[in-house]
Amino acid sequence: MNDDLEFDRRHIWHPYTSMVDPLPAYPVVSARGARIRLADGRELVDGMASWWSVIHGYNHPRLNIAIENQLKKTAHVMFGGLTHAPAIELARMLIDVTPEPLQHVFFCDSGSVSVEVAIKMAMQFWDAQARPEKHRLLTIRGGYHGDTFGAMSVCDPVNGMHERFRSVLPEHLFVDRPRTRPGTPLHPADVEQIESTFAAYHGQIAAVILEPIVQGAGGMWFYAAEYLSHVQALCRRYDVLLILDEIATGFGRTGRMFACEHAGVEPDIMCLGKAMTGGYLGQAATLTSTRIAEGISADGGVLMHGPTFMANPLACAVARQSIELLLAGAWKAQVAAIESQLREELSQYASHRAVADVRTLGAIGVVQTRDPVPVAALQQIFVEADVWIRPFNDLIYLMPPFVIDRDDLRLLTRAIGLGLDAL
Ligand code: PMP
Repeated sequence: MNDDLEFDRRHIWHPYTSMVDPLPAYPVVSARGARIRLADGRELVDGMASWWSVIHGYNHPRLNIAIENQLKKTAHVMFGGLTHAPAIELARMLIDVTPEPLQHVFFCDSGSVSVEVAIKMAMQFWDAQARPEKHRLLTIRGGYHGDTFGAMSVCDPVNGMHERFRSVLPEHLFVDRPRTRPGTPLHPADVEQIESTFAAYHGQIAAVILEPIVQGAGGMWFYAAEYLSHVQALCRRYDVLLILDEIATGFGRTGRMFACEHAGVEPDIMCLGKAMTGGYLGQAATLTSTRIAEGISADGGVLMHGPTFMANPLACAVARQSIELLLAGAWKAQVAAIESQLREELSQYASHRAVADVRTLGAIGVVQTRDPVPVAALQQIFVEADVWIRPFNDLIYLMPPFVIDRDDLRLLTRAIGLGLDAL
């Protein structure tokens, strides 16, 4: 194993890391429910759900069977000119569970690509309406939409990757991250900024793109549903499309099936990924309305995208099963229980000397520290406490699998206390 770890260090990139001075990577041999087993036999309680995705827990018997059954038929087949039941059934389910106007589905292999497709849909739509001047996007600071170039161009311009790629990224429009927190009245400055930007630039704007209610990797920030409804109203007033990136928030994480439901907002385009397959396989989807889908082809054109692993049958089969598990409904009580336990157990840290803010929503708990944390050192403290929590910048956060039990969740919240005391 030591040889393998050394090989890994020298030859394999992990996310956002250096080949010269990589952060340590812990070897995993298996995972079940909300626990991850390391090669040395230790079992860690998982606070990350593998970046929002493993909502039903690891090694779920029904998800395993869905893949096994599909594997006996075919693991993959191209989607150009061919189709299959797993894709058709999954598309039916997605259309059923998402807001009513969304009737058309484009499958692709990752969240970032689904954002690229959403942007293309918006740009192609206006182009086909003979409005090519509507080619800019409007978004809020503090966002994160993925690592490909189109997605990067709407990530936070300071925290994101703009600095490094400035010369090749298109320049879109940004307003401040909404100050209005959930449950508080709309802040006049939020309203003023977004309204004046719409008024000045609507003729150039193809779409607004937002993570609804919860901004994830750009800062784990929660904002009020009223802000989202206000943006939708402005989009309608000024004939601008609304793209909601529900890749992180979709499938129950915020306490609603989709975060846009907190605001009763129905987007023109929606991106889904991560938890769509229960965290089993990489697959994502971009959904849109009939107006946009048909509008894209108003000039006789086609939607210009078609990845190799589009609608991979194994991924579609497991996604269908994952949504069936959600439709059975247990997640609502699970997420509500996680939310109240997180609120109760994390609130004690609000007065900790190292803490700037504590916030919770659905199965998401965030402790924001005053200064950026030493990731490797904290990670070691957490592993020694038998939990898996991976902080970034000044954020120590939890978003466990929905199936986690009370005791395991308590281990996670206590471990955060240990980490904070070490700062
Ligand atoms: N959008 C959001 C809101 C995300 O959280 C992420 C992933 N963290 C992405 C897009 C990109 O998804 P992927 O990593 O699957 O490309």
